[in-house]
Order: sequence, then C-alpha cells, then structure tokens
Amino acid sequence: MIVNFNQAADVERTLLGLKGTGLADMVSLGLSVPPGFIITTDVSGRVHDNGGIMPDDVWQGVLDALKQVEQQTGRTFGGAQSPLLLSVRSGSNVLMPGMMDTILNIGISDSVVETLARDTGNTRYAYDCYRRFLQFYAEIVLQIDKRTIQAASRGVLNSANVEYEDELDEARMKEVVDALKKMVEESGRGGIPEAPLDQLRAAVRAVYASWNNPRAITYRRLYRIAMEHGASITIQAMVYGNLNENSATGMMNTRDPTTGEKTLYGEFISQAQGEDVLSGRLAPLSLKQLGETMPVVFDQLKKAGRMLEEHYRDVQEIEFTVQDNELFLLQTRKSPRTARAAIKIAVDMAREDLISREQALMMVNTETLNQILHQNIDSNVAVKSVARGVPASPGAACGSVVFDIESAERSAEMKQQVILVRPETTTEDVRGLAAAVGVLTRRGGRTSHAAVVARGMGKPCVAGCEAIIVNTEAREFTVGDVTVREGDIITIDGSSGRVFLGKVPMRRSQLTDEFRELLAWCDQVRAMGVRANTDSPEDAKLAMEFGAEGIGLCRTEQMFQTADRLPVMRAMIMSHTERERREHLKELSAMQQQDFIDIFNAMQGRPVTFRLLDAPLHEFLIPLDTLLMEVALLRAQGARGREMEAKEELLSKVLQLKETNPMMGLRGCRLGILFPEINEMQLNAIFEAACNVARNGGEVNPEIMIPLVGHVNELKLLRGQVDTIAAKVMERYRVEIPYKFGALIEIPRAALTAAKLADICDFFSFGTNDLTQTTFGFSRDDAERKFLLHYLDQGILNNNPFETIDVEGVGRLMAIAGHDGRQVKEDLVLGICGEHGGELETIRFCQSLAVNYVSCSAFQVPIARLAAAQVVIAQKLKSQ
Ligand code: ADP
Ligand code: MG
Ligand code: MG
Repeated sequence: MIVNFNQAADVERTLLGLKGTGLADMVSLGLSVPPGFIITTDVSGRVHDNGGIMPDDVWQGVLDALKQVEQQTGRTFGGAQSPLLLSVRSGSNVLMPGMMDTILNIGISDSVVETLARDTGNTRYAYDCYRRFLQFYAEIVLQIDKRTIQAASRGVLNSANVEYEDELDEARMKEVVDALKKMVEESGRGGIPEAPLDQLRAAVRAVYASWNNPRAITYRRLYRIAMEHGASITIQAMVYGNLNENSATGMMNTRDPTTGEKTLYGEFISQAQGEDVLSGRLAPLSLKQLGETMPVVFDQLKKAGRMLEEHYRDVQEIEFTVQDNELFLLQTRKSPRTARAAIKIAVDMAREDLISREQALMMVNTETLNQILHQNIDSNVAVKSVARGVPASPGAACGSVVFDIESAERSAEMKQQVILVRPETTTEDVRGLAAAVGVLTRRGGRTSHAAVVARGMGKPCVAGCEAIIVNTEAREFTVGDVTVREGDIITIDGSSGRVFLGKVPMRRSQLTDEFRELLAWCDQVRAMGVRANTDSPEDAKLAMEFGAEGIGLCRTEQMFQTADRLPVMRAMIMSHTERERREHLKELSAMQQQDFIDIFNAMQGRPVTFRLLDAPLHEFLIPLDTLLMEVALLRAQGARGREMEAKEELLSKVLQLKETNPMMGLRGCRLGILFPEINEMQLNAIFEAACNVARNGGEVNPEIMIPLVGHVNELKLLRGQVDTIAAKVMERYRVEIPYKFGALIEIPRAALTAAKLADICDFFSFGTNDLTQTTFGFSRDDAERKFLLHYLDQGILNNNPFETIDVEGVGRLMAIAGHDGRQVKEDLVLGICGEHGGELETIRFCQSLAVNYVSCSAFQVPIARLAAAQVVIAQKLKSQ
C-alpha cells in the first residue's frame, strides 16, 4: 500500500513503520511536516521476492502519490521551474538507528541544479545539494567505497586548505561536483541517471536493499530482531537547512535523555543538512543559541515538543530543519535513554499526571537497570581505553593487578583492592574472585564462569579480552606494546567491556529518591516476594538497603573460602579420625556462628534460608593438576622431609576424593549423610546464632534447606537430624524459635516425587541453575565452553537456558513439583533461587506458577521488584 502522510491516520501502525507513524501523527496534529508518502511494510516482502525491484503496480502507486506531493508543494519533480527534490528514507517497526540507509536530494541533475540556483539566487547552496546527492548516490546506490568517494574531493579541499566540503565557496563547490562526477564515471559502477524518475527508482531499490546490509544484519542478530522483510520506505519533499544563514538542521529531545531532567536537550547546526549534526564534522550549537538567533522558530519548536510529549506521553527525540526561518519537523520518536533518565522521566511524568503510576512502571526497562546499580565510570571524564572485551558483569572497578588466587587473597587481607587477571577462569578461581574487586579474562564470554560468578557477587567482569596476552608465570600481561605487571593499577568497566591503565574516576551508584519512589510503587503492585542470595553480613546489609524481604539462599560453604578459614577447612578434610575432624569442625562452627549472628541482625527478623554444605570437598583443596606438578617438581629436586610428606599426603587425599563426575558425585545432601558431623556443626552454628540473637530480643526466622535431594528417604533422615539438633540447642538456650525445613529442588527426581517430599517440607526452593543442568544433562561450564554458542547460532536453542528459564522442560518440572507439592500441603511455600531469579521472563513464568518469592543477587533485588510489578501490570492489561 502507498499512503500519503495526510491519509495515514487510520492506517495500521505496523504498516507505516516507526518513522512513518511519527510523520503521519505529526501531520494529524497539524505540525509542519514536508509532504510525502509511505510505501508500507507489507510491500517489503513482495519487493524482496521480485529480486529487490518494485513490481510495476507498486511503481505506478509511487508515481500517483508523487503527483499528489507535487500538488501539495507546488513543485515538479525534475521540473524546469520550481523543481522538487525528494528524500528516500528507510524505516521499520523496530528501532534500528542508523542501520539502514537514507538518500537525500534526489531529482537533482546538471539542468536542475541550475534552475535551483536561479530560483533561490544561491548557487553555492544548489551545488551543495548536488554534491551531497552525488555522495549519497555513489555510496548507497552504486556501492562505491567510502574512501574512494572521500578521496574525490580531497584535491579541491586541499587547494582550498579546508577539511570539509561545508567550508567551500561557490566556485570550489562546483569543482567538487565535477570531481565527484568524474570519480563516478571512472568507478565503472554505472553512471548516475539524469532523469529524476530513474534516480528515484534506483534510490528506492537501494534503500530496500539496505535492509540486508551487514550493519543491519548484525544489529538485528544482536538484538534478536526477526529477519523477515519489514522495511517501510518514506518518500518526502526535501526542505533545506543549507539554504542560507536563516536555515539550520538539528535534533531535540523534550527532556534530557542522560539525566531525565526536564530541560530541552539537543543541538543544531546552521546552514547544514540531514545528519550533519551527528557526523561530528562540524561543532553543533546548543538549543539555547537557537533561542537567541531564531526566537520565533525556537518557540514553535518548544511548543511542538510539548504537544508531541503529551500526545505520546513519553519523551520524544525530534529531528527538525529550519528553512529560511520556517520550521519543519522530520521525525519524532521515543528518546533512547539511560537507566537513570528512564527512572526520573517515569516518576516525573507520573507526578505530572501525564501517565499513571502503572504506566510509569512499564516505562523502565529492567535490563538496563544493571547500569546504575553498580559503581560506574564517571561519564563526564574522557579517558581512552587500552583494550576492549566482552562486558560480562556490569559496574567498574579499579585496583592493582594480580595473577593468581593466593596473591589476590593475600592482598585482600591487607585491605588492598585487586583485579584478578586470568587467561580464563575455572571454578577454582571463585576464591580469587571473592578476594578481588573485579576480574579480567582473555577468554570466555558473558556466560563464562568468571562472568557468572562475578555477576552473582555483583563484581565487574570483562571477559574475552583477546587483546591482552596474559603471562601468569611472569606475573604480567601485555596489551599492544604496553606491559602491565603485578601491582600496577588498572580500571575495568564491566558495563562497556573497556580496560584502562591507571585509575579512572568513578561514581558510586545510589538509589536516587526517584528510584526509591518507583520501587515503592512496585511494592504496591507486585504479588511476588523478592529475596536475596547472599552469603555474608555485608551483602545482607546491601540486600536490605535494596529492599530484600529475606534471604532466599545463604550458601554456607562460601564462608569457608576466606584465607583464615580455608586452612581449618582443609585440616578438617585431611583428618584421619572422626575425633580429629570434630576438633576442626568446632573451630569452624565458632567462626560461622558469628557470621550467622551478624546476618540475623542485619535481616531484622526476615527469613533467612541456609543451605547446608553443598560443594564437593575437593573444591576446598588444591586442584589435582597443580598438586601433581608441584609434587613431581619436588620429587625431581629430591625433596624430602616434612614438607614433602605433607604434600604427598595431600596428593593421596586429593586422589582419593577425585571423582569421574564431581557434579554428580559426593556432594549436596549426600555429603551430610556420609559425614553427619559436618551437618551437625553447621546446624549448631545456625541455631546457636539464632538463639543468641533471640535471647537479646532480636527476631529470627531461620529456614534450613537441604541441597541436591533426589529421594524422600534422604530428606527424612536429615529432617530428623535438624529437628533433634534444633531442639537440643533451644533447650540449652531456653528459647523457642520458629524455623522451617525445606528442600532445594534441583534434580528431576525431586520434582517428580514432590508429593512425597512435600509431606515433610515447609517449602521448596527451585535451584534453577542446577535444575537446568540436571534436566538438560549439561554441565554448564562444558556447555558454555563447548557447544552452547553453537546451539544458539544454529537456532537449536533460542535462548541460553542458564539465562532465561527453559519453560518447556525445566519449567514443566517446576510446575509438576509445585502442583503435586501443594496437593499434599496447600500452604507449601515455593521460591526460586539461582541466577534466573532477577530476570523478567523468569519472573513472569514464576508468577504463573504462583511461586511465593524469587531470590536473586542483592544487586538484582531492585530489578526483581520492578519485574515482579511489571508482570502483574502486563497480565492486567492483557485481560482488559
Ligand atoms: P535515520 O533513520 O538514519 O534517522 P532519516 O530518514 O531520518 O534517517 O534521514 C537522515 C537525515 O536526513 C535526518 O537528519 C533527516 O532529518 C534528514 N532528512 C530526511 N528527509 C529529509 C527531507 N525531506 N528534508 C530534509 N532533511 C531530511
Ligand atoms: Mg532520523
Ligand atoms: Mg545446586
């Protein structure tokens, strides 16, 4: 279909595309827009099937519509008097800024340029239009290399001693036009037709083809935009910001899209055209200056902005051109904005009654919130990065470089901030990560181990930074010709993937007043509880500040990974007798108890879910490969004595603990069943801490969670142990505390036998990370390293199931477990913990299962609060 702007009011929006819709809307609002028409998106597929050429009936439609534009403007396309020039603009239903092409000044030729010059009395302007047209046509239609096109003007620019064509006078502008024509001729790509209609036809064809230029393809892939043809083409009468000194072109946002402040935000350039403002070629002026030089125009622009903002009830980015003191609007769209601005804009607009609170909540994108919940590079400082990797965990960190876990821990003990730099990471590096403020790796991506763990800890991570060559032995890395040694300071920005030498100024993120208000609105709407996964008292405090209603997962083994506790943990594992083991456990118990007390105090009576020891014991020892190497080296050196013996003993223990498949080995509840004294130690620490706090008047609500349950008999055994120890401790302290008992559902068998488990559980918590691993039979590390990307590329999987929950499989198990469990026990509490907890689609799914709460990393708590509100509102909108 082909529709004139002024007949488009009733046409379906998706047919017009975003740009077309904006133009049609502006016309219906009575704003000044150069006349034009739209070839709707439904034609795009037909053009494509026709080899990229418009079918005859479409071309006939274009000719008819063009007649109307000629009438509206009083100009003729290619006319010997008052010639009409056109732009052919690309568009679609998804925002793909600058990805497709647009061609300006179509219809100009050797004869038309003279008419234009005569009509306006401005030869320089006429040739400037011609020059621009030739450059567009050469690049977009003839596909001549950009450098070749630029080189064509070089001679003239040099002799005029200027850098850009914008600065040329009339005579020189004509010379450039000649040079461009010559370049086109010599290119052998075919000439430029004199006949305006031939130009138009070729231009439309090229703009359609730009749907599939490499830029656009990559962009759509990146943002997972469907590949079906959906271009909408706009053909519009040109207006000239380059006509004279009373002409200009610019962009205006109705509010500041970086801060959200309610001030006009934009730039303009006088005597310019099209995208000159964006090109960075010329220094643009501020809108304030527009107010000074063209007060009437500026006033009209302000009014138009207000009108459009009210119409769309959202901040608009507006393209405008001033032709001889007359304002024309060329585009309006929703302003892209930072997370910070999005929040302020949403809250402000709700306060201004432009939108409802619920609309405000829907306006903020949950994913972009990551940007502001972390410390970030101060965007006001211009600094150059030395390398760029994958932005794998948002936020920025600065510290001295270390290359191994031990150095990281040593530095952390001395309260030094360090950045762990590794060629790649393994599970063992978690300790190093815990001690570091950030991590930089040469290999791996967003889903690499380092990235996942860093995100969980809320620490910045730049992964896959191929430009750095890491030499762990020499304790240095090189990037280009720079060598960075251990102890040197670097800054990494996990939000953009950039790496800087030295210290770069940073801003600490805080919840702004607006953000707090927005979150308070969320809490009134959402049905789902939000808890945090936190393992330390510090994280618990942060979680509270971010509004967590409890701790959904406190991984007790994380507490053994610090430098002072690990040796005790190791000694415990190396024990020869149960007595010896109990000695060490006692020591650990005392250490844990203090942590638990601090966590209870921080959470002020909110529930805290403690997961009993889950990790296989070998994770606390030195990795086998490292140890084998050390021992081999010592043997070769003929080492003897105590140290050698200890090493040999350690090696034999590690060999003894070695499993073919640790993920499915002696871990989780199996560990506590085989070594009841380990559970006993932890349970004592938890209940003693709880009793301590309760005795001092504090409120406590501990929940004991059993990991990796597969059979109800495992659970029965452990429930007995929990109840016995709890009773004993309470008796000893003479206080009564409420506690709950539940199972982590992370093995399919647990989900399938949920009815039996529910009988002895107060709650189920879905451990979606492991449940995904066990359901797919993938080990995450291996999958992400070896085949998952391939699966995603080939479309075997649409999403990474470790990021977005696999509703069909994993979700089905969750549904079964929830349903069967609640059949047995109506008030069985359901929760989820795991990385999925803070993700919108997962929350939407959980809502449909009537899950009671999601638990995510402390940093994601605000995101989960917003997401939980959004799913409720979306549901409501759907049912209306
Ligand atoms: P994009 O989709 O990349 O924003 P546009 O179609 O908006 O591309 O066009 C690129 C530039 O050309 C914009 O600055 C726009 O304002 C300008 N432009 C487009 N059509 C006209 C016209 N008819 N008259 C004057 N300038 C135009
Ligand atoms: Mg535009
Ligand atoms: Mg698990």
